Amino acid sequence: MERLPVTAVAHSAIVVVLAVLAASTLYGLTDNKPYIADHLVQRNQTTVAPSPGNKTLQDHSAGMRVILLGTGTPVPDPLRSGPATAVLAGGQSYLVDCGPGVVRRAAAAFQRGTSELDMRLLTRAFITHLHSDHTTGYADLIMTPAVVARAEPLNVYGPPGIKEMTENILAAYKEDLAVRAKGENLSRMRGYKVEVHEVTPGIIYEDQNIKVTAFAVPHGVWKYAYGYRFDTPHRSIVISGDTGPAETIIKACNGCDVLVHEVYCKAGFDLGPRSWQHYHATHHTSSVELAELASRARPKLLVLNHQLFFGCSEDQLLGEIRGLYKGRVVSGKDLEVY
Ligand SMILES: [Zn+2]
Ligand SMILES: [Zn+2]
Repeated sequence: MERLPVTAVAHSAIVVVLAVLAASTLYGLTDNKPYIADHLVQRNQTTVAPSPGNKTLQDHSAGMRVILLGTGTPVPDPLRSGPATAVLAGGQSYLVDCGPGVVRRAAAAFQRGTSELDMRLLTRAFITHLHSDHTTGYADLIMTPAVVARAEPLNVYGPPGIKEMTENILAAYKEDLAVRAKGENLSRMRGYKVEVHEVTPGIIYEDQNIKVTAFAVPHGVWKYAYGYRFDTPHRSIVISGDTGPAETIIKACNGCDVLVHEVYCKAGFDLGPRSWQHYHATHHTSSVELAELASRARPKLLVLNHQLFFGCSEDQLLGEIRGLYKGRVVSGKDLEVY
C-alpha cells in the first residue's frame, strides 16, 4: 500500500480547512457563524451596544453626531456616493436615505471605528423621498446586512409610497429570499424582514437615545418630501433632504447644532439652459437662497450636502455662501463626521 508522506496529508488537510474557513467567512455559509462582519464586530465589541440597565437618556445622547455616508447626487461621481447620511446616538445608527453605495460606505465608516455602523445595527432608516438617487441602495440595505450579520428586522420610516416600493423590492428578490430561507436558520431570516412605517409630519420616532421629527419640504412636483430633525437633550441635527428653500427648515432648525442642507452653485446654474434652470429652481436650493435661509435658521454649523456643482469648484460654491452668510459653513465630503 502506498503511503502518503505525513507532511503531504497534513498539508492537504490544512488546505481543505483553510478553504472551508475562507468560504464560510466570505459567504456566511455556516449557521453558527462566522459571518463576514464578525471579525470586524469583535474588534469593537465593547462599544457596539450600551451595557443593559444602567444607561440614561443623558448618558446616551451627549455624543450624538452625524456622518455623511454619501454626499452625491444622481451624477455617478466615484468620490461622492449616493445620498445617505447617518445620525449616531447611544451606540445606534439612524440612517437617512439609502442612495447607491450606502452599505459599502457604512462598512467603510465601521472599519474606521464608527461602531454604530456595524451591519447588525443597520436597523433603522428614515427616507426623505422616493427619488431614485435616494433609494437605489434600498435593496442593498434590505439584503446585504442580513446576508452577513443582521438578525433583527429593518425598520423604515418614510413618506407614502415607501410601503409599495418595499413590497416591490421584496417581490423582485423572492427567489433569493426563498433560497436563503432554506439554507439558513429561522433566526437569521428575521434580518431580512422590513417593518415599514409611512409617516406624516410630526414626531415620528422616539427611543431611549433620540427623538425624530419629520417636516414637509417643497421638492418640485413631488407630493411628499420630508426633512428630519434629530434631538437629544444635548444636541439637535437637522437634515434637509432634497428641497427648495423652505420655511419649515428654518423653523425646524431654529438655532440647531448642525444643519445638513442640500445646495447648488449659482454661477453654474446661471449658465444652464432655461428648461433645466426651471427644474432645478423648483426642486433645489441655490447657494444664494441657502445663505439667506441659514441667516434665519441660525445653525451653529451649516454642512453643505448633495452639492450640485454644475461645473463650479468647491471653493467657488463655498465662496458664494460665505459672501452672504457669516455663520460657520463647511462643504461636506463622504465619511466626514460632525
Ligand atoms: Zn437627490
Ligand atoms: Zn430628489
